Amino acid sequence: MLRGLIIRWNNVWVRKRRARVPPANLLLLLSRCLQRSLCRRKVARDPAECERCGGCDVAGLLALRDELKVQCRIADGGREALALTRDQSVRAVVAVACEKELFEGIRGAFPKPVLAILNETPNGPCHDTRVDVEGVRAAAREIIEGAAVDV
Ligand code: SF4
Repeated sequence: MLRGLIIRWNNVWVRKRRARVPPANLLLLLSRCLQRSLCRRKVARDPAECERCGGCDVAGLLALRDELKVQCRIADGGREALALTRDQSVRAVVAVACEKELFEGIRGAFPKPVLAILNETPNGPCHDTRVDVEGVRAAAREIIEGAAVDV
């Protein structure tokens, strides 16, 4: 409950800052549970492993990466996610994960702006999760095209 409020407040704050970064400096950071549990491709090690079969939202998210020319990584856990956000080439993040991971990611990446998108859990927590790819697209474009202030 409190974490959810902080995540919402964070997103309002990021939007108020009107953060803007070039696509190459925007990281689309995805939780591993978005990958279909039956899929054996090592997409967390290398997103290129995805065959884009459409069995989960990873295919659509990688297509979005290619379209917007942003970075995209699939994190195998909170520690790896934090390390990815701290990479020097990353100046802003659009993150898709559960409430707990988003909260920790926002805290760990601070002061880098993180637009946080809660995944959907039609199959229960941490299992074959889903996300609205169009919502991710809108969030990424907000940061790429955001108005006045560069970060
Ligand atoms: S789109 Fe297909 S190949 Fe790619 S991660 Fe999902 S199930 Fe695996």
